[in-house]
Amino acid sequence: MKIFVCGPTVYDSIHLGHARTYLVYDVLVRYLKLKGFDVILIVNITDLDDKVFDKAEWEGIAFKDLANRYTQEFITNLEKLKINSINAFHKASDYLNEIEYQIDHLIKKGCAYQVDGDIFFDVSSFPNYGLLSNQTHQELMLRRLNSNPKKRDQRDFFLWRSWIGKKPNFKNKFGIGRPGWHIEDTAISISIFKGGYDIHGGALDLVFPHHEAEIAQGESIISQHPFVKYWVHTGLLFLEDEKMSKSLGNIISLKDSLDQFDPDILRLYLLSCHYRETFNLKRNEIKKFESQVTLIRNIVTRLTKRILGFKGIQNNLPIKTLFKNHINNFYASLENDLDIPKALNALIFLLRAVDKDMVSTNQNLLNEILKMLSVLGLESSFGEK
Ligand SMILES: [Zn+2]
Repeated sequence: MKIFVCGPTVYDSIHLGHARTYLVYDVLVRYLKLKGFDVILIVNITDLDDKVFDKAEWEGIAFKDLANRYTQEFITNLEKLKINSINAFHKASDYLNEIEYQIDHLIKKGCAYQVDGDIFFDVSSFPNYGLLSNQTHQELMLRRLNSNPKKRDQRDFFLWRSWIGKKPNFKNKFGIGRPGWHIEDTAISISIFKGGYDIHGGALDLVFPHHEAEIAQGESIISQHPFVKYWVHTGLLFLEDEKMSKSLGNIISLKDSLDQFDPDILRLYLLSCHYRETFNLKRNEIKKFESQVTLIRNIVTRLTKRILGFKGIQNNLPIKTLFKNHINNFYASLENDLDIPKALNALIFLLRAVDKDMVSTNQNLLNEILKMLSVLGLESSFGEK
């Protein structure tokens, strides 16, 4: 199963909303692997972007140095949060040749056009534009994103932006300039996966225009529909009832949160809301998950000690029905649109039942519990993999 998730623009630390997206994907991949799927998860790094260039200029350093700093911080903090399902991170700047090739291909197919060095995707060449975000032609015309007199149709978007007196710029057969944001991702995903793939992820605010544009480019380039089988988006993040945003100054970075909280507590907290829902983060709620993590650790530790203490016939007994029901609920919840909060509840119910009835436990049950913990990424607390 081939999965691509939009990565960060590396000009600053990622916040908890971003972290939540990668965490959901981490659990999804852990679960798919448990089910026997061979999974490859790729995350791109947007290092060719005005935000990166502007901040680097402000700091008086090369954009690559700034991008590397935040890329490294991003990867390190995902590791601290025990997100270990990502196979590789790919930087847009390593794919300039592929970007050039794809733009060239789109021009030759009549899906893109050049005006004074700028190159636009011609949305009229792609009738399904608007399908993912469920918008009609009229609705899209009203959005007027980056309106520009050079565009034939205001829905069209940049594939290549010619030099506008700002650095850095790159040279290719179309002249000096830099790629549009959307084509960076298509260049990476299509060259890695050699065509279409199974799941594309990201946060809800990327549906339009970013993912809509990726579909238009991708399907036009590889002449395949669908280019991606499933689009899976995570809900937005609010902090104390307000949207978390730089302009409001209410960003909580993953880096700062990891300085304050045990990664297991953060994991459980960020997974406590269904991935599609808007997460309304409340500072005083994070603490509550400390007791949940303690409960899990205590009961599993006691159970492990007990199982180590005896060998023989009891270990081969079937798992008690009450326990089995909670285990089944755990997996049924994950099967139902990856309902992680419900799965987590099933795990807690199971552990409470185990705590009350330790005499009915055995090795088979412990193995099942460790498997459930590893789907949620909590296995390292117990020295088990
Ligand atoms: Zn993206």
